[in-house]
Amino acid sequence: MRIVVVGGGTAGWMTAAAFARLLPETCSVRLIESEAIGVVGVGEATLPHIRAFNVRLGINEAEFMARTRATFKLGIEFRDWGKIGDSYIHPFGTFGRGSGAIDFHHYWTRLLRKGAELPSLDTVSYACALARAGRFAHPDPDGRQLAGTFGYAYQFDALLFAPYLRGIAEEMGARRTEGKVTRVERDGESGDIAAIVLDDDERIEGDLFIDCSGFRALLLGRALEEPFEDWSRWLPTDRAVAMPCRTRTAMTPYTSAIAMPAGWRWRIPLQHRTGNGYVYASSFVSDDQAQAALEAAVEGEAIASPRLLHFKAGRRRRSWVGNCVAIGLASGFLEPLESTSIYLVQQAITTLIELFPERHIAESDRDEFNRIIDLEYDRIRDFLILHYHATTRSDSAFWDYVRTMPIPDSLAEKLALWRERARVVKYREGVFLEASWIAVYLGQGIVPNGWDPRADTASAETLAHSLEILRAAIASDVAGRPDHRAFIERYCAIAQAA
Ligand code: FAD
Repeated sequence: MRIVVVGGGTAGWMTAAAFARLLPETCSVRLIESEAIGVVGVGEATLPHIRAFNVRLGINEAEFMARTRATFKLGIEFRDWGKIGDSYIHPFGTFGRGSGAIDFHHYWTRLLRKGAELPSLDTVSYACALARAGRFAHPDPDGRQLAGTFGYAYQFDALLFAPYLRGIAEEMGARRTEGKVTRVERDGESGDIAAIVLDDDERIEGDLFIDCSGFRALLLGRALEEPFEDWSRWLPTDRAVAMPCRTRTAMTPYTSAIAMPAGWRWRIPLQHRTGNGYVYASSFVSDDQAQAALEAAVEGEAIASPRLLHFKAGRRRRSWVGNCVAIGLASGFLEPLESTSIYLVQQAITTLIELFPERHIAESDRDEFNRIIDLEYDRIRDFLILHYHATTRSDSAFWDYVRTMPIPDSLAEKLALWRERARVVKYREGVFLEASWIAVYLGQGIVPNGWDPRADTASAETLAHSLEILRAAIASDVAGRPDHRAFIERYCAIAQAA
């Protein structure tokens, strides 16, 4: 099968590397990209799933981290979201020991509702405690140990990841062509894409076309005219100004998302610099005001001029139409608050490989692919909306809007379940499992009215005592772990990439 990938950003090269590595007998991979057009050049924070992707590609972690100037990420810190002055971490890990018949948060809710004086929730999650301490060590493979109750992801230089993957893809036989796609030819009968034509008139035929052309969505959007579902009524941020700076403070093993008057600001520490950006809603703040606010907030000397990016929340109605599959920004975009875009790229690739067509594309495979991708987008959409909606902030028109806006029914149902009895919807597929929802619900001050009655079996004193033992055990274990920067210097410092 001839696979033609249009676009050489993170999505394009992840796709090309995965197909070349995982289906070498089944397909040939050809990738077309235009240096003149360039890549979006952001996308530095990831989710833990990326580790499985790297492992499948045979990537050595330390080498990969050195080459992409990566740091470790244990979660995301949210500052000023529920109200100004708040700070909580959405960890890549559990609260409590993550085991037992009744989930930890039921006990926590019971104690909270009974007015008990509790430590910060961060102190009873190993991942949060490790992050707050600025330390890192790989998780214990034994999930019964406290040090085995977390996962981790990476923060890396967005401009280095795709070239790194390009090396792998080309080594495995993928062919790259520099050029600009100017025309798309379709089969008169089926409507499928027959070929793409480049600016030098070269015509490239294929069996399966992967649209990784970024926000342009050249194939799926422009040529096949698949409609875009606009979700900006729920996710009104539509621009970002990005500006990296020198690192002046700690190299934190987590990303920070700091709420701002018309959106939020990211802080992503890498080995050689810190990435910063203000994601905002242009109907609530001007570009100049946003840029000035970012410049005032960043901690160190800027090392590049501010760069403006435009986007719209939503997705193509279907990601796979005919013989064209859109992956990456060409398929849709949900703002980067929970670092989900690269995850969506990975899910699309993995799902496509599982449903990979042999000679003939089956309608049922296409439908299944679209079902899975829709589900991923919908879950992430609801999770993101929760962060904005679950606030008491009323200090700007933006926060007033998001606090009072109507929300999707699917999120309203989840919130009702939580408020009533601390229930978190359990998924068999898709991202953001229980601990993620719990972190945001509790972190933003939505304390449930009830809890699982089985949490009533122990006395409040016994529970408080167990909590203290847990907190102390986590604190003592964390204190023995290496400083994040020291760990990086030993394990995967830039010098090792040479
Ligand atoms: P692009 O990088 O735009 O690549 C498109 C490619 O198509 C380029 O190679 C371009 O040259 C090529 N192309 C376009 N037109 C043509 C043509 N006519 N002919 C030939 N080639 C063409 N994701 C995360 O996971 N974590 C984050 O923290 C994160 N932060 C983000 C912050 C912002 C503000 C934004 C906007 C996005 C962020 N993302 C993040 C998303 C992430 O950047 C993208 O998902 C990722 O970079 C993949 O982009 P892409 O490859 O789809 O598109």
